[in-house]
Amino acid sequence: MSLQTGVSYFANGWPHHFERDLDDIRAHHCTYINHCFSENELVFARRRTSRFFQMTREAGLGCWATPWAVMGLFGGEQFSAFVPRNPEACQVLSTGQRAPAACPTALQTRQAMMYWIDAAIDMGADTIFWDEPHLYIPDWDDLHFAPDDALACYCPRCQDLFHTRYGGSLPPLLTPEFRRFRANIMVDFLAEMLAYASRKGAQNAITLLPVEEDASEALPWEDVAGLPGVNIFGTDPYWYLHAKDCRSYVSNQMRRTMQVCELRGLTPHFWAQGFGIPAGREAELETGFRLAVELGAESIAVWGMHGNAAWDAASDNPELVWKTVGRTFKALREQYGSS
Ligand SMILES: [Zn+2]
Repeated sequence: MSLQTGVSYFANGWPHHFERDLDDIRAHHCTYINHCFSENELVFARRRTSRFFQMTREAGLGCWATPWAVMGLFGGEQFSAFVPRNPEACQVLSTGQRAPAACPTALQTRQAMMYWIDAAIDMGADTIFWDEPHLYIPDWDDLHFAPDDALACYCPRCQDLFHTRYGGSLPPLLTPEFRRFRANIMVDFLAEMLAYASRKGAQNAITLLPVEEDASEALPWEDVAGLPGVNIFGTDPYWYLHAKDCRSYVSNQMRRTMQVCELRGLTPHFWAQGFGIPAGREAELETGFRLAVELGAESIAVWGMHGNAAWDAASDNPELVWKTVGRTFKALREQYGSS
């Protein structure tokens, strides 16, 4: 095994600054960068982003691109330009509100996603990273748009589809049929998008939320991992964020990951949280990473360099977090191969 180590990158647009960050990232023993390629960059900063991708490859690092909160369908702290321009393509909630997120069943959503994929791959990304795909989750919305129990999607397309597949109309609550329906429309969307990226020559990496199978936002791991074109599969058990015990949370989620990956020969992947780490608990990062690798992870990454100091969700001691990441990546790569 050659352990791969990555970091997500965002919040900077200056090439001279990125040059220094590249040195910094290499000095922290990373082998790839996950570039957060938002709709904003797609519209306003394509040339600069393309240059960053090229600089990444020239530095000998893997170049991942993630659709950062693109159309409200993935994880990330970005607004969508697509949403207000394509109201008919958006999800409709059980409250009747039109959600600030595209519906994966809409043709416009799929076309826009393919437009993003074309740009990312043509600009030089070698891997497309599908991060936390989900239908609208009210609880995640910092602007508190809808009540926490509001559900998607009740758009006319979904109503027709549900009727065709299950008969009757969409229920007001999360019945087993509605749960399957919600998962299926996202899996269908991913199937088409991953196949498209794969045909264009990119690898696909995907991270699903580390939630129980009966959680409303859960996607079926087996079905997603089994999609043609998936190369790297994992999850992001952020134990600080979810107030969980590092060892048990990481172990449980890594075992689930390995069960899915081993059967299919996928590269097991693991994200650790680099943001919002409370003072005095930085060393747990090393515990979590080490445990993930011992349990089989072959690609590990941290969300945000320098303890995410560029964002409000900064760690208490961002520099200590970053130092811990570098030390841990170095030790693990020495131990688990760094060819
Ligand atoms: Zn819909």
